[in-house]
Amino acid sequence: MLIENYNKVRHEIDEACKRVGRDPSEVTLIAVSKTKPLECIEELAAEGVMEFGENKPQELKSKYENVSRPVHFHQIGHLQTNKVKYIIDKAVLIHSVDSVHLAETIEKEAAKHGITAEILIEVNYAEEESKFGVKKEEVIPLIKEISSSFEHVHITGLMTIAPFVANPEENRGIFKGMHELLLDIKSQNIDNIDMSVLSMGMTNDYKVAVEEGATLVRVGTAIFGERDYSI
Ligand SMILES: *Cc1c(COP(=O)(O)O)cnc(C)c1O
Repeated sequence: MLIENYNKVRHEIDEACKRVGRDPSEVTLIAVSKTKPLECIEELAAEGVMEFGENKPQELKSKYENVSRPVHFHQIGHLQTNKVKYIIDKAVLIHSVDSVHLAETIEKEAAKHGITAEILIEVNYAEEESKFGVKKEEVIPLIKEISSSFEHVHITGLMTIAPFVANPEENRGIFKGMHELLLDIKSQNIDNIDMSVLSMGMTNDYKVAVEEGATLVRVGTAIFGERDYSI
């Protein structure tokens, strides 16, 4: 039963919070349902799970349109500008904004729908070649440009995908650095933004991420099992 896996992860999050004196209600668990069938979402939604994460815009759209309960979908994967239209009025939060160009497209699509899009800035903290996201030095200039240019885009925090490592302790410095960056930006009192959300931690390293200040963790494999990309 998926709910047992989900509850186990939730319990680990609560324990990680306790270890560092955080209130567990500060941390939201996003069940990353990418590649998994709608029935998996339905099974968890029936148990009251509300937050789901998807990578591919068309898959998010299709699941949004077919799910029987009012759950929330997060766009967690890289977003191409030509696909913004699929998710603009369907994703509660876009985790993966890493350019002015993408923010500009989100602005146009959000304006069309008369909504404000909630977004996070994706940071490639470890500067891995294979990853999307901006370098840490580029985060503040990007936030200043987006927040001063686009009325229908609201920045609420930061997101990172840490490297895949054998021992999650290896990512602790990255999570700590992300939290410091968030606090640094907060202290600058930039207009029209919030720095309340820190999206970090996946199956392999979410406990460490929570200990270091994550407010959203994105967990797929530990809830749904391994993904099969061949189908
Ligand atoms: C797939 C994915 C996850 C979940 O990964 P797991 O290791 O299965 O928990 C989290 N975040 C993003 C951006 C992803 O693409």
